[in-house]
Amino acid sequence: MIPATTFNGKRVALFGLGGSGIATARALLEGGADVIAWDDNPESVARAEGEGIATGNLRDEDWSRLSSFVLSPGVPLTHPKPHWSVELARGAGVEVIGDVELFARERIATAPDAPLIAITGTNGKSTTTALTSHILQSAGRDTQMGGNIGRAVMTLDPPRADRFYVVECSSYQIDLAPSLNPTAGILLNLTPDHLDRHGTMQHYGAIKERLVAGSDVAIVGVDDAYCVQIADRLERAGKSVSRISKRLPLPDGYFAEGTNLMEARDGRYERIAFLEGIGSLRGQHNAQNALAAVAACLKVGLDLGEIQSGLETFPGLAHRMEQVARKGRVLFVNDSKATNADAAAPALSSFPRIYWIAGGLPKEGGIEPLRGFFSRIAKAYLIGEAAPAFSATLGETVPYEISGTLEAAVANASRDATEDGDTESVVLLSPACASFDQFKNFEVRGDAFRAAVAAIDGVQLIGGSHQ
Ligand code: ADP
Repeated sequence: MIPATTFNGKRVALFGLGGSGIATARALLEGGADVIAWDDNPESVARAEGEGIATGNLRDEDWSRLSSFVLSPGVPLTHPKPHWSVELARGAGVEVIGDVELFARERIATAPDAPLIAITGTNGKSTTTALTSHILQSAGRDTQMGGNIGRAVMTLDPPRADRFYVVECSSYQIDLAPSLNPTAGILLNLTPDHLDRHGTMQHYGAIKERLVAGSDVAIVGVDDAYCVQIADRLERAGKSVSRISKRLPLPDGYFAEGTNLMEARDGRYERIAFLEGIGSLRGQHNAQNALAAVAACLKVGLDLGEIQSGLETFPGLAHRMEQVARKGRVLFVNDSKATNADAAAPALSSFPRIYWIAGGLPKEGGIEPLRGFFSRIAKAYLIGEAAPAFSATLGETVPYEISGTLEAAVANASRDATEDGDTESVVLLSPACASFDQFKNFEVRGDAFRAAVAAIDGVQLIGGSHQ
C-alpha cells in the first residue's frame, strides 16, 4: 500500500466505498489523514465501518473544516449532473480529487524520478498497459501496474526512484487528477464513447488531452482527427510529442509497416521492433498498442533487445482476441470483450476465414458497421436476444444458424470448422453485444466459451491461456 503522506494531519472527506474507495481510505489513514467516508449504499457504508473506517453522512459535515474531497471515479463529477457531494464540495470551495491524484502527489513528494507511464485512449488501454508492464518486468525492472486495470493505484508498492509505474487511466480518473505528470503519457486514440458521462466529444477529448499535456513526453496515436489536433496543439505549446501511427509512414515518430515497427527521424526510417509471429499482438489495432508501449519503454531507458523479447513473450489479456485452443488447423479465439461492433472489428479484420459466434444483448446499430468483413465469415452462429436482428442483417450474404446458447454455438462452429477444407480457420467469439441477457459480464461469457472449447474432443489448450 502507498500511504498518502501528503495528507498527513488533514481532514479529508471521501465518497464512494467500492473496492478502490476502501483502498483509498486506508491509504489516507495510513498517511496520517483524518478521514470521514460515505456512500449512498448503506451496505458499502457498513462494510467500511467493519474495516475500521470512520463514516458519516457528508450532508451533515462541516465542509469548512475539510482540506480535500476524494471522489470515486464511478461517481458523476459533471455529467449528467454533478453528484450531490460534488455540489457540496464546490459550494464550500473544497478541491475534488481521486485516487490517481493521491498517487501523483505522493510520487512528486517522495520519489519524483520514479518512472511513470500513464495510459489513456478510447480503446486499447488495458492491452497497452499490460504490454508495457510486461516488457518492463521481463527486462528485470521493478514494475508496478494498476489504476483502471488490476489493482487500485494506492494498493501498489510505495514510490522509489528505481521503481517503474504503469498506470491505466480512465477519463474519470484523469478528470480527478490535476497533478498527474507522467514521464511518458500515452493517448492511443479517441472515438465517441461514454458521452453520457462527458456531455460532448469536445469535453471528453479535453479530459484525455490533460494526461498527455502533463507528461514529459506525450505519445499520441495520430490515426484519428481528434488526436491529430491534440498532437498539433501540444507541439505548438512547445511540448515534446512522439507521434505514432498504425498505418501511415510519419516523417518523425513511430509507425507500423505491416508487422514491422519503424522509428522515423527527419524523414529517415529504421526498423526497431517487429510483431511477426506474435499471436497475442495480431491485428493493426495491436500495432498501435505495441508502438505506444515501445515508445514509452524507450523513453524510460529500455534498449531494443529488451523491448523485442518482451513483445515476443507477451501472453495477451484474457477475453481480448485471446487464443485459447487449437484442434488441427482450427484456432479458437475468445474476444468476449468486444461488446459492440467497433470493438469486434479488429478481430474480424485479423482472420481470413471465420466461424463467428455473435450475439447477446444488442447495441444500437447492431452489426451493420461490420458488413465490410462479411466476406471473411464462413458461417455465423447467433446467440442471445440479438439473434433475430443479426440474422436479418446477415440475410442472404452470410450463412448462419440461430444456435441460441453459447454451448450449442461452440459445438456447431467447432464441428463445421473442423470439417472445413484446406485453410486455417478460426472459431471466434466476438459477440458485438453486451452479455447481460445470458451472462453476468463479459468475463463470465469468455470463461464459458473457454470451458465449452476445453470440453471438445481432441482440442489442445494453448499454454499461457488465462484461467
Ligand atoms: P480498453 O481497456 O481501452 O477497453 P482493451 O485493451 O481492453 O481496451 O481492448 C478492448 C477491445 O478493443 C479489444 O477486444 C479490441 O478488439 C479493441 N482494441 C484493442 N486495442 C485497440 C486499439 N488500439 N484500437 C481500436 N480497438 C482496439
